[in-house]
Amino acid sequence: MNNPFLRIRPTEMPPEPPRFPKVEDRWIAILNPKPGRPITGTIITERPLWVLTHWVNPTGIPKDGRTRPHLGTDDTCPLCLSLDQKPRWVGYIGVWLVNPARYVMFQLSLHSAQTCPPLEPDATLDLRGRSIVIKRVGAAANSPVMAQLGTDPTALELLPPELNMRPALLRLWDVRSSDGWVMR
Ligand SMILES: [Zn+2]
Repeated sequence: MNNPFLRIRPTEMPPEPPRFPKVEDRWIAILNPKPGRPITGTIITERPLWVLTHWVNPTGIPKDGRTRPHLGTDDTCPLCLSLDQKPRWVGYIGVWLVNPARYVMFQLSLHSAQTCPPLEPDATLDLRGRSIVIKRVGAAANSPVMAQLGTDPTALELLPPELNMRPALLRLWDVRSSDGWVMR
C-alpha cells in the first residue's frame, strides 16, 4: 500500500489537461491593436512567419487598404511593377486568446520586431507558450506597434496545438502556395 496515488483524494488530483476548440486553420483573424488598447495572448507558433508584402490602397482611405503578398521577384511581381513600391516584410505570429477564447494571428512590422529581438526574422528561439502584448505607441491609428514578450512560458502540455498560418494567409490573399510568395 505504498502507492502514493491511493492517498490522493479527488480534490487533490492533478487538473485535466485543458480542452481547446478545433482549429479552423483557413479562417483565422489577423489582429492589429488600436491606440490605447493593447492585446495580450499566448504564442502558439514557434516563431513569426515573415512574408514580403505590399500595401495596396487604391482609394487612399486607410480602411480600404490591404496587405498583399509580393510574388516572385522585383522584376516579375505584378505589384512591384504596377505600384512602384518596394516590398516590405510583415510578420504573422499565431496566438491563443483567452477572453473570448480563440485563435488569431498578430501582425508584426519589422519595427515591432526590432523592439523585441526574439521576433526578428532571423531569430531562432522557440516562442511557444510565451505571452505577448502588442500595442500602439502613439495615439494615431497608424502609429508604430510595439511588442513585448513575457518571461515565464506556459507549459507545452497546457497549450493548444501549433497553429499553421499558411492556409489562412493563402485564403486571405487568394493565392496558391505555388504562386511564388516570398517568406522567411
Ligand atoms: Zn512585389
